[in-house]
Parts: sequence; C-alpha cells; structure tokens
Amino acid sequence: MSGHEAPARVPRVEGRTGEPAGLHIGVVGGGQLGQMLGLAGVAMGHRFTFLDPASEPPAASAGRHIRAEFDDVEALERLAVECDLVTLEFENIPQASAERIAARNCLMPGVAALAIAQDRLEEKQFLEGLGLRVAPWVQVDSVRDIVQGVAHLGGPSILKTRRFGYDGKGQVRLADPAHAAHEGGPGNPGEAASAWQALGGVPAVLEQMQHFEREVSIVAVRSRSGEQCAYPLVTNIHRHGILWQTTAHRGDPLQAEAERVATRVMETLDYVGVLTIEFFVVDGRLVVNEMAPRVHNSGHWTLGGARTSQFENHVRALLDWPLGDTAPLGDVGMLNLVGNLPDPIAVLSVPGTRWHDYGKTPRPGRKLGHVTLTAPDATTLESRLEQLRERIVPPGE
Ligand code: ATP
Ligand code: MG
Repeated sequence: MSGHEAPARVPRVEGRTGEPAGLHIGVVGGGQLGQMLGLAGVAMGHRFTFLDPASEPPAASAGRHIRAEFDDVEALERLAVECDLVTLEFENIPQASAERIAARNCLMPGVAALAIAQDRLEEKQFLEGLGLRVAPWVQVDSVRDIVQGVAHLGGPSILKTRRFGYDGKGQVRLADPAHAAHEGGPGNPGEAASAWQALGGVPAVLEQMQHFEREVSIVAVRSRSGEQCAYPLVTNIHRHGILWQTTAHRGDPLQAEAERVATRVMETLDYVGVLTIEFFVVDGRLVVNEMAPRVHNSGHWTLGGARTSQFENHVRALLDWPLGDTAPLGDVGMLNLVGNLPDPIAVLSVPGTRWHDYGKTPRPGRKLGHVTLTAPDATTLESRLEQLRERIVPPGE
C-alpha cells in the first residue's frame, strides 16, 4: 500500500467481480457518514437506501430512508432484498441483524469484522492474537475485577464498556489507583464501585492510561478482489473524548508500520471497504487503541483534501472497482463542528477552507459538521488552523 503515490494494485484473486454501473446500495445507519457516502456514490451513478431509526437522519438527503430500529427483522430483510448489496456506516447493530442481512445478501464488511469491532474485549483479543500491541487491559464483570485490575495495571486507568461506546461515551477515568483499589462499603462506595455504577454495571474492560506523544489513525481500503490502499497517517487531537482536529501531512515516519497493521487486519478478516485503525504513539511506537469497520471522522479531510475521498473509495471497494488515488492535495486539516455551528462566513474567510453541515439539530456534544482546510505547506496549514480555532468552539467548551 502507499499513501503517497498512486495506490499499489494487488489483486488477491484472479480478476474482479466488477459490479456494473448504477447499483442500489443499502446502508445500515443514516448519519453524516451515510450522507457523505451516499453523496459520493450518487455522483458515481448509484442509488442508496439507508436504514435508520431517526425521523430525519442526515443521509435521508442522499437517498431513500427506511425508518426502523437496527433489530427490526422485517426492515432488515427489506433492505437486504431490495438492494444489490449492503454496507454500514454504524457498527453497533445486533449481531443477529448483521447475520440476517448476510444470509440474504452480501454484507460488506462482513459479520466477523463487525463482531470484533463492536466488542472491545473481542477486539483486544483479536489484535493481540495478531501480535499487535494494545494498552495493557483486564476484563471487567464486577467491582472486584476493577479493584484487582487497578492493582494489576498500576497507575491511572480508564474503564470502558465493551459495547456501544462512541465519542468518549461509556468511559470513566480512574485517576488515582490508591482510591480505586478498594471495594468501599455502605455510604462510601469507593472509586471502583462509582465507576462501575456510572457505566450501568455492564461488561467492560479496564485499560491502562497511555501517556501518548500523539494520537494517529490510518484509513485503509480493501476491495472485494483484494486490492488495497491507504491514506496518509493522520494526527488526531481529542477534547473530552471527541475528535477535535485532524491533520494530514505526507511522509509520517509511522506510515509504513500503520499500513502493515491495517494490511494484517484486513487480510485476516477478508475485509471489504474502508477500515480505520486508531493508535496511540507511545515512545515513538504504535499502540492500537481501536478499529472502526467503516468510513471515519478522521478521514473526513479526504473529502476535498485527497485525490479520492474515503467515501468514494469505500463505494469503489464494495463494487470491486479499481481504487482511487489516496494522495493528499497538500497539507490538510479538519476541525469538527460540535454542539454549535460557527458563522460560515467567518470560517470560509480563511483561505483554503471548505464547510460541511450535516443538517442536524444542535445539541451539546453532537457532531454537526466539519471544516476542512488545505494549504501548500505545513507552516501555512498551522497558521490557517490557528485562525480557524479562534472562530470555532472546541468540543465540550
Ligand atoms: P470514538 O469516537 O473514536 O469511537 P470511543 O468513545 O470509542 O471513541 P476511544 O477511542 O476508546 O473511545 O477513546 C476516546 C479518546 O479517549 C481517545 O481517542 C483518547 O484520547 C482517550 N483515551 C481512550 N483510551 C485511552 C487510554 N488507554 N489512554 C489514554 N487516553 C485514552
Ligand atoms: Mg476512538
């Protein structure tokens, strides 16, 4: 794979499936990821149906909308039968739902990738099984597990629900191991019991806090016949567990290592579509945080900031069409618009910016849109980002 020149073409099987033009693509989930996927696919001549429980999800502007819960068997069958193929923009659907679609039609990525990505425990076991580094962790099914886990891990740790976490939700930080290292008693639940209760007493994992130098992620793509490519490794800054800023530069020293990890994961799972892997950089080396079996917020910069967007490449991968060039169009940045939208005129007055509004009702902590910024060099990018950060309120503030 290469994030810099034309992607290497590595057909894994002879020939391509090469779906014809003008397909009907079903998407589980109808949020902004689905919207941008749909807009890219419609431009390529396909049409879309999105299954989503919301009344007016963002993706409804890019195709037909089936309003249904993710475990509505009848609606899932309809999606699978009516569409030529099915993909997803939201991975937290019940396994039974994924299996139902897969039994009727092709679901890409497949059930195995979904099962792993939606359960932090299975994900960690899978990654460790491939010999990849993750933060030290323990399985948690009780307060006692937390108490013992804190002692075992040493130092600050973070308790995360196994399922349904996103944007820092379903997480509690245990800053002081001395406080968390006892079960507490009546009237004094102790930090471990409070954390367990705060997450609703559901199965979880306790992870050692990583003192990372930075956070990075790789957006990689694999098509049905095994062609692969990856975008440049990006650096991500989170605020209150929510992505705030992504920057993409050419030639990150960890690019090759990140691509090796992505290749390993995709080939093991016979993966089809865009896969994103988030990492912590600790002592100059990659520690895997988590993976997402879909297009990703840290890949939004590719829309207007790379020769081919992650959304277009996901569609190409599903259809087994040749993948598009992942090269960036300069030094590129992205800022999320969370909670409130800033003034678009103030934002767009900064040279090189593009405005994306998902059409969602504002709510604290909700991703409403994003801004991308291209610049001819890293210094210009940083000074333009500085101007933008003065005009946009970061998540949680
Ligand atoms: P996403 O929105 O990416 O799905 P998420 O809610 O699934 O996020 P994580 O990616 O696990 O959660 O965590 C969110 C952020 O919290 C991370 O990007 C990182 O900034 C911080 N974080 C999580 N785990 C750790 C850790 N073990 N050490 C240090 N920071 C961490
Ligand atoms: Mg994350």
